[in-house]
Amino acid sequence: MAAITMSGLTKVYPNGVRALNALDLDIVDGEFFALLGPSGCGKTTLLRTIAGLEVSSGGTIHIGDTDVTGMPPGRRDVAMVFQDYALFPHMNVRDNIAYPLRIKKVDRRTRHGKATETAGGLGLAELLERRPAQLSGGQQQRVALARAMAYTPQVFLLDEPLSNLDARLRLEARTFLKRLQRDLGVTTVFVTHDQAEALALADRIAVMQGGRIRQVGTPVEVFRRPANTFVAGFIGSTPMNLIPATVRDAGVEVAGTILPMPEIAEGLTEPGETVTYAVRPEYLDYSPAERAGALSGVVVVVENLGSSSLVSLDLPGDVGTVQVVVAEGEEPAPGDRGWVAPRPGRAL
Ligand code: ATP
Repeated sequence: MAAITMSGLTKVYPNGVRALNALDLDIVDGEFFALLGPSGCGKTTLLRTIAGLEVSSGGTIHIGDTDVTGMPPGRRDVAMVFQDYALFPHMNVRDNIAYPLRIKKVDRRTRHGKATETAGGLGLAELLERRPAQLSGGQQQRVALARAMAYTPQVFLLDEPLSNLDARLRLEARTFLKRLQRDLGVTTVFVTHDQAEALALADRIAVMQGGRIRQVGTPVEVFRRPANTFVAGFIGSTPMNLIPATVRDAGVEVAGTILPMPEIAEGLTEPGETVTYAVRPEYLDYSPAERAGALSGVVVVVENLGSSSLVSLDLPGDVGTVQVVVAEGEEPAPGDRGWVAPRPGRAL
């Protein structure tokens, strides 16, 4: 088990695409670490560079105390689960899962026991005798995951490990993965573009954009204190409201209403300055009646989220639309006038 330290890491592909741009990142020993970001931001490239499957164009990578920058993949003691699984077609599920143990010369009985146990935890117990071609995509994905987890390397690298599973299996596999990682204590880096998965699983998250890291933090930190509007807009099942506003002596003005100055912004702005007032839909309170210090708007869309609804209101002027989560049974109808106010301490 080991920490992973990247310094000035750069990857330029032969076609000139700069997929990693002088990236610095420290992943702590034993951490469950998520790489999150939109398609094309460099997540897979970073993972493959840690694995040694891509040669970096600049910078260094250390695993523990060892500089692995120029080291071939086989010597890095990392196990990677690929998006395309890379299972052995001629081996059944049990032998696929046990393969890394065979390479490590673990005896047959132990390796079969370990393979059966790991397969059981991922819902594969009935499939041990099948070949990969006789499995669905989601089943193959779980076999690949089980194979990586049947032996204990220094580092696990998982590229979208749960992307092919249906919603229910995905939740089950997520819980299993988290428990297994905690039990084994192996430093794990996983790539996802599903921010709910990253928030649920990771000890810490790096949010990437254009080959750079825009923020590293715990799920609570990136959710509550996004470092910039990119992270604010990317994290959360509904994006954060980013409302154009003007600083006044008494607070922050949005469409003629003065909202309290967020504590975090005190002393950073001057009256007259144009700012972005950011608040999550979950942290706005909706009221059908006029309230002092609340923004007034007209309801345009009501989306059912299950146990609550997401209500979009058009604010006057060029402010645009704000979204607010409203509890079950309290939803307004399109065309209604409504008032929304940020909860104390929740705006940025
Ligand atoms: P996704 O979520 O879609 O898998 P990603 O964040 O994992 O995306 P990468 O696959 O790392 O992104 O790609 C980063 C950038 O590098 C993209 O612009 C991509 O087109 C480019 N790229 C990836 N692989 C290669 C390659 N082998 N040759 C040239 N360009 C590449």
